[in-house]
Amino acid sequence: MCRFQRFTENDAPITCGQRQCPDRACQAKAAHKQAEILIRSFRDRLPTHCVVLKITDDEVTTSGQMAKSLRALTQYFRDFRKTTIPRKRVPRNRKSSKMLGGVHHDDSTPPPADKATPPTIEYDCRIEFDEWGLPHAHVTFIAPFGGSDAAMKKLIRKWWSASCDGRPVSVYCKPVKTAEGYARYVTKHLKDRSKVYLPPENWNGHKCRLIWQSRGFLRRPAKEIWAELVQEWYPPHAVTHEESGNGTATPEDINSPIAG
Ligand SMILES: [Zn+2]
Repeated sequence: MCRFQRFTENDAPITCGQRQCPDRACQAKAAHKQAEILIRSFRDRLPTHCVVLKITDDEVTTSGQMAKSLRALTQYFRDFRKTTIPRKRVPRNRKSSKMLGGVHHDDSTPPPADKATPPTIEYDCRIEFDEWGLPHAHVTFIAPFGGSDAAMKKLIRKWWSASCDGRPVSVYCKPVKTAEGYARYVTKHLKDRSKVYLPPENWNGHKCRLIWQSRGFLRRPAKEIWAELVQEWYPPHAVTHEESGNGTATPEDINSPIAG
């Protein structure tokens, strides 16, 4: 039962759409919204890597400990952005390639990517729980810095391990193949949600929120992407002719805020 227990005029239950509502329908609605936002954003900013981070000992990981680990981890991400030295500016009149060591650089061919652009690393980290209430993190990266997948995994493992106070960790890291399917998977917008667990009761969501996202991960703020989608699905002229309360979702219904 939804914790708000609201009903339409025809006594149909209204789902609040909050991720942490005990009502499965509300959780599914939240997952749907999250998935649609990612799918739309991924059109312009493709995810590159899908990562799962775990702590593998049998100790309980509290919200405070998890937050500490994720703060440390995301600091590595921020530091990484500063690692590559920006490309040196070459004066326009310096046409001779001999001065640059004999290698001819045609102006029309871009220089190697690793020198031309600072490393991009945008992330979206979602905390999930297993049936015993133990947390793990699903991290989606937009990190097209051109290294091998093995190198990426090694780097993430190093950072995650260093972020967990010496506890044993496991890291799964694979390239994302289909962005849309991945968006549904990572937001748990799935037909079978029986393996999706709410945070344990002692989880402090203020200490450790469930989604950590870098500013450049989404192409626009989530709220704006969602408004754009609702606008497309329910053009204003269609809404004015439709009576609400007939059991189908109205824009207001879908637009209700979600947790996280
Ligand atoms: Zn609810």
